[in-house]
Amino acid sequence: MPSGRTHDRITLWTLPWVAGLTLWQTRSGNITLLIAGGFLFGGLMFGPDLDIYSRHYQRWGWFRWIWLPYQKSLRHRSFLSHGPIIGTTLRVIYLCSMVGFAIAIILLLAQKLFNLQWDWQIAGESMGRSLVFYATEFLALFLGMELGAMSHYLSDWSGSAYKRFKKKGVASLLPSVKIKKRKTSSRTTRRTRTKTSRRRQNVKVKSQDK
Ligand SMILES: [Zn+2]
Repeated sequence: MPSGRTHDRITLWTLPWVAGLTLWQTRSGNITLLIAGGFLFGGLMFGPDLDIYSRHYQRWGWFRWIWLPYQKSLRHRSFLSHGPIIGTTLRVIYLCSMVGFAIAIILLLAQKLFNLQWDWQIAGESMGRSLVFYATEFLALFLGMELGAMSHYLSDWSGSAYKRFKKKGVASLLPSVKIKKRKTSSRTTRRTRTKTSRRRQNVKVKSQDK
């Protein structure tokens, strides 16, 4: 898979295209700004590689520790961090709950220390209302972040496919054709062939487990 620097370059080079296409399709400066901003954020800081010690993780600076539980609970390149849509959705939920938790603690402390009056119900209601009111904006931001993360998944996948291709040739990209071929050729001396192919399969399974 490509290095962090390559991922950064891909993000920066595709940014003008994303912004241009969005502006062309929506004719809205605000939406374009949100999608482009989300794309940069998703590509540089909020990407799938937060599941490992990476550039994304380092860019959070002082606040990088908030991603430690995320890293601990996810295997690197797992479906939950590198899967389309699900990866970004989970990260948004994770970050929101972390930030929400921190805000709740700060407010509770302020209430206790300075005797501030705070109506939790009103606060929750106004938050819900603004979520509905700015639904389009939030959706645009999410879409931008998903596109930024998607450029990462795509280059990860195409990078590893290219590596496989360089190692094993075209056959590595067409696994189903390979299996068919083996079946037809094993007709002549079925017994011995199946034994060896079975053994081969076992070896394959074992090496995949690693
Ligand atoms: Zn990755």
